[in-house]
Amino acid sequence: MKIAIVSPDLYTYGSMVIGGILRDAGFDVTLTKNVDATPNADIILLSLYSTLHLLDNRIRDFASQCSKPVYVGGPVSAYPDIVLGELDVDAVIIGEGEESTLELLNNGISEDISGIAFRSDDEIVQTEPEPAKIERPLPLIPDDIENQSIRGANVYIETHRGCIGACGFCQVPKFFGTRIRSRSIEDIVLEIEEFKRCGVRRIAISGGTSSLYQYKKSVNVNAFIELLQAIAEVMGKRNVSVPDIRVDYVNEEMLHAIHDFTMGWVYYGIESGSDKILKTMRKGVNSEKNVYAIELAQQCGVKVAGSFIVGYPKETIDDYQLTKDLIEDTFLDDVFVSIAEPIPETNLSDLVLKTDDSENPTFVKHEGEYKALKLTESEARCFDLELHAQMCRSVPNVLTDQLYNACLFDARQQGSDVRAVTGLLQKYRRK
Ligand code: SF4
Repeated sequence: MKIAIVSPDLYTYGSMVIGGILRDAGFDVTLTKNVDATPNADIILLSLYSTLHLLDNRIRDFASQCSKPVYVGGPVSAYPDIVLGELDVDAVIIGEGEESTLELLNNGISEDISGIAFRSDDEIVQTEPEPAKIERPLPLIPDDIENQSIRGANVYIETHRGCIGACGFCQVPKFFGTRIRSRSIEDIVLEIEEFKRCGVRRIAISGGTSSLYQYKKSVNVNAFIELLQAIAEVMGKRNVSVPDIRVDYVNEEMLHAIHDFTMGWVYYGIESGSDKILKTMRKGVNSEKNVYAIELAQQCGVKVAGSFIVGYPKETIDDYQLTKDLIEDTFLDDVFVSIAEPIPETNLSDLVLKTDDSENPTFVKHEGEYKALKLTESEARCFDLELHAQMCRSVPNVLTDQLYNACLFDARQQGSDVRAVTGLLQKYRRK
């Protein structure tokens, strides 16, 4: 049977993993990023990682024009009712789809398969997903993987699944669970060697938060260091990065390992300078812990990038000012700013649904210093924080017209995307 996996615009790691499983199970599998043509296949697996994909006309047209069955998987599968409501597809493969995909392809749609959703008459039938096995065959790696760049890496690989955090804006704990399931170093190294053989030059480690590798009641420092060392031996330290470290699950020894066996950066989800907002976000840390972790990394010679979220429900101008102050005080090496995006089925999406648009910064008109730019409050904070961060970085950037316009464009784009996602959420609001 011919199967086409379609992963719009980029080859996600998950689509490559599923491709490898199907290849080894005897299917004739192809993997493509192209949604502008219908692939020649008996069944199409559409891999979607963003809520915005459900509103993307290219993807909506692709799904409705396919004459063959289309099954959707990926992070959007956490809200199958919205997927089935928005896209003309046959089924959704919920959560970790490795095993249910095989069953679905072998047996067709049935209530006996765990972790799928489909329409039956006017109802949506949904079966409970189960965690997949963490061991699997080598992924299906496309020939042009070397041309892909996701924040500088050709691919993000998975070392473990799950996260012990409970951040309200994140879907990882619900999607992969709160128990950490780690792959063996041998499997990870074999996979990286295969990626390298196929042309990959830069690898990043994903999987919740990197330092939770082999976590069992506490952080396993030795396993984390051994992991980095093993990956660096294959790729070379300059070609390995470990994004996404929680500030409360890192110590000096681990930071030295990041310095010695990777390109030497950590990416902390700082999110806010306000303890009140950190609590609302359920981050489980306060500002003091954030600042301590930043300074510890800097003392270990590791560069620090921080990501921040603005426009969270109930974020006041004073909360926002605390975020600006933190950025000013900490001399981060890079800063990423996002407007709070309510991914369906997260705690943030519940908060947003309880917030009237007239009080939601995503919709409230900004009346302050950027009034002439006609921004929403979230957009204005995003724009202002991006400009502020450029000037407060360890090596400040000169504020050119080009940079100013790029920050403004990004803020407007994010604002428009988050409004679209919020609108979708409101459309499917549970009565
Ligand atoms: S620590 Fe990271 S992966 Fe875990 S819940 Fe928070 S944001 Fe998500």
